[in-house]
Amino acid sequence: MNRPFNFSAGPATLPLPVLERAQAELVDWNGSGMSVMEMSHRGKEFTSIAEKAEADLRSLLSIPDNYRVLFLQGGASSQFAMVPMNLHRGRPSADYVNTGVWSKKAIGEGARFLDVSIAASAEANGFTDIPAQDSWTLNADAAYVHYTPNETIGGVEFGWIPDTGDVPLVADMSSTILSRPLDVSRFGLIYAGAQKNVGPSGLTLVFVRDDLMGDAAPRTPTQFDYKVLSDHGSMANTPPTLAWYLAGLVFDWLLAQGGVTAMAEINQRKADKLYAAIDASDFYANPVAKDARSWMNIPFTLADAERDTEFLSGAAEAGLFSLKGHRSVGGMRASIYNAMPESGVDALIQYMSEFERDKA
Ligand SMILES: *Cc1c(COP(=O)(O)O)cnc(C)c1O
Repeated sequence: MNRPFNFSAGPATLPLPVLERAQAELVDWNGSGMSVMEMSHRGKEFTSIAEKAEADLRSLLSIPDNYRVLFLQGGASSQFAMVPMNLHRGRPSADYVNTGVWSKKAIGEGARFLDVSIAASAEANGFTDIPAQDSWTLNADAAYVHYTPNETIGGVEFGWIPDTGDVPLVADMSSTILSRPLDVSRFGLIYAGAQKNVGPSGLTLVFVRDDLMGDAAPRTPTQFDYKVLSDHGSMANTPPTLAWYLAGLVFDWLLAQGGVTAMAEINQRKADKLYAAIDASDFYANPVAKDARSWMNIPFTLADAERDTEFLSGAAEAGLFSLKGHRSVGGMRASIYNAMPESGVDALIQYMSEFERDKA
């Protein structure tokens, strides 16, 4: 099989060795005579799968012992609501930083549960940069500060971690988690839908600091209470077992690649060369300020939008899939998460240069 390069923003491409291993183990996991899909989540086989996945994830990101790691359902979008329900803790409001589409969704959902104060916004410049921290308005008695380290649609990414003092920092890391080393101790809570850089959809990771649990709003549904979920080892009800297992295979693969330090080097190189190709051309453009450009999601436009369809069909013929930009932005978007090999980025750059030469 000639596998194409899939630049989808999510669900996104997975490492081929992970898919092959899943295929080999699909019908009979480790001599158990069962598929992972058929196992009790409380049996010894799945327990070993779940524990290894968590241990590998903790090791990949050096997650400190005072953080719980939860393997949940519901996607990052459910966390937009679970965060305020659990972390409100009687405080008057929460601070949110608005850097694009996903920030706005988190803000909209947060406002259903508490008073949202916008600490900073990049809306006035069309979300093409990150507001410098010295321009933020932070409230010392805020329940937490929420931000989106990587805006998957706008292609804007923080190269730094905000300093919020004693106020817990909450981050939606759906499209950047595991792309590089991370100092988890700087955060109160981190969440991420799995289908960008972790595994298949249906799984959501949450890292939550111990002291932030146990004070959820009174009407918080049992299944949305981090303390309940943590006390039950993410098995207060049936967890997404297959997705948890597949994420575990990805963690295993990441460790074999040299972990997140090695991935960071490759990811930066991939992004640098694609931005360099865009910047060197008069035909392609990316609007984002240089120091706010995402390593993971790279939107770009063609000088002549009439050629978009032709660009995309030629790309598909060349084995380059899912480059169409988000409907709210138009143009193109190349998502180049951990599982996108450098050769995929090279092939994209070559196609872009040939298209420009032949059609521009
Ligand atoms: C994809 C994405 C989401 C939404 O994730 P779901 O799992 O579909 O709810 C939220 N935030 C960011 C940054 C994303 O990239």
